[in-house]
Amino acid sequence: MSRIDLHLHTTHSDGSFSAAEVVRLAHQAKVTTLAITDHDIVSGIPEAIATGAELGIEIIPGVEISSRVGENELHILGYFLNWQDQELSQRLATLRESRHSRNPQIIDRLRALGLDVTYDEVKALAGTDAVGRPHIARLLMEKHYVTSAKDAFDRYLANGRPAYVARELPPPADAIAWIKAAGGVAVLAHPTWATSAGEELEPLLVTLKAAGLGGIEVHYSTHTKRQTTKYLGLAKRLDLLITGGSDFHGITKPDIEVGIGRGGLKVSEKLLEPLKKAATRT
Ligand SMILES: [Zn+2]
Ligand SMILES: [Zn+2]
Repeated sequence: MSRIDLHLHTTHSDGSFSAAEVVRLAHQAKVTTLAITDHDIVSGIPEAIATGAELGIEIIPGVEISSRVGENELHILGYFLNWQDQELSQRLATLRESRHSRNPQIIDRLRALGLDVTYDEVKALAGTDAVGRPHIARLLMEKHYVTSAKDAFDRYLANGRPAYVARELPPPADAIAWIKAAGGVAVLAHPTWATSAGEELEPLLVTLKAAGLGGIEVHYSTHTKRQTTKYLGLAKRLDLLITGGSDFHGITKPDIEVGIGRGGLKVSEKLLEPLKKAATRT
């Protein structure tokens, strides 16, 4: 049985490897099909498709759209999208703008805390339109204010920490509708993030399914066996498709590898066919 990976980031968002490099890493990891799912951007897809064609790897056009319900950020993955869809591009561009207004505010807070960082430095380091907190974390690492990306989040950038700024995000129903309008199938990413402590996931999934959600990311790098079993059960009960991926970012998440996550991830190619069918139905 060959291995697939349906959740990967490149330098087009907050990953540290180019789309071509990610595809090459996947090839080395014996991954036969992969999805590029950058945050709120689809510009890495053509490069991935070109390298995939050279190496004989199938590339699924994807995206990971940020949305919010109350305090929780919900990430909605889109698969088999028409990534050249103009309307989708425009919606994603608008969404990225909300990061542009948030990131300078984070930098202002860091400066108020006495750290010598500027937004120009973050933009230069990122080299992409989709600047995110991992880029700020990297700058803090380079300037030796923190020892790792995790340290940057724990001390400054995570929700509840002194440089945290919430950003305006669409409701998940919008993200789902945008993906479907571009011919894709929408999937809830890393479901452990989707609810607050003690809150049940099932009612949220029921609401999202009514809005057009097609699947749930059951297999994920940091899931325990218990979590995977729980999400499998929910997928079966609610008739949602099952997906899986590493959420590879490169150096900002150094313990996660393409295709295998922390070593135990194994996503079956059998998941592909139903996903493809669901996308062509929309
Ligand atoms: Zn995510
Ligand atoms: Zn991701």
